Amino acid sequence: MISRIEQRCVDKGMKMTGQRRVIARVLSEAQDHPDVEEVYRRATAIDPRISIATVYRTVRLFEENSILERHDFRDGRARYEEVSDDHHDHLIDMETGRVIEFRNTDIERLQEEIARTLGYELKGHRLELYGLALKDRNRDDTG
Ligand SMILES: [Zn+2]
Repeated sequence: MISRIEQRCVDKGMKMTGQRRVIARVLSEAQDHPDVEEVYRRATAIDPRISIATVYRTVRLFEENSILERHDFRDGRARYEEVSDDHHDHLIDMETGRVIEFRNTDIERLQEEIARTLGYELKGHRLELYGLALKDRNRDDTG
């Protein structure tokens, strides 16, 4: 079966090699926001001949073709996710690095208002929240 990202590549007229197809599949199936090392780990589990250089090149190619979006979550590693019409923002757990996706209609509306007030039509934004998990969140006692 052809993966979602592979289909997008084909639609854009990109030449798909077997290794590119594997990387496209790994990225299509990713539920998280993997960095290149992680994509490499998952891709070589399918095809051990894939090199890290190929993963870097392919990810960059996908990014240049607006198939992948790159994020910088302040840990020094570029993270990737498939470009989607379904907008969301991110909260990053500073301890574990876990990335939580969310969407808040109040924030979306407020951003549009701010832009309009400044004389602009909002065309996009990037919002990242950084936090530490509340330690007592799951505790039963109220003390
Ligand atoms: Zn995301």
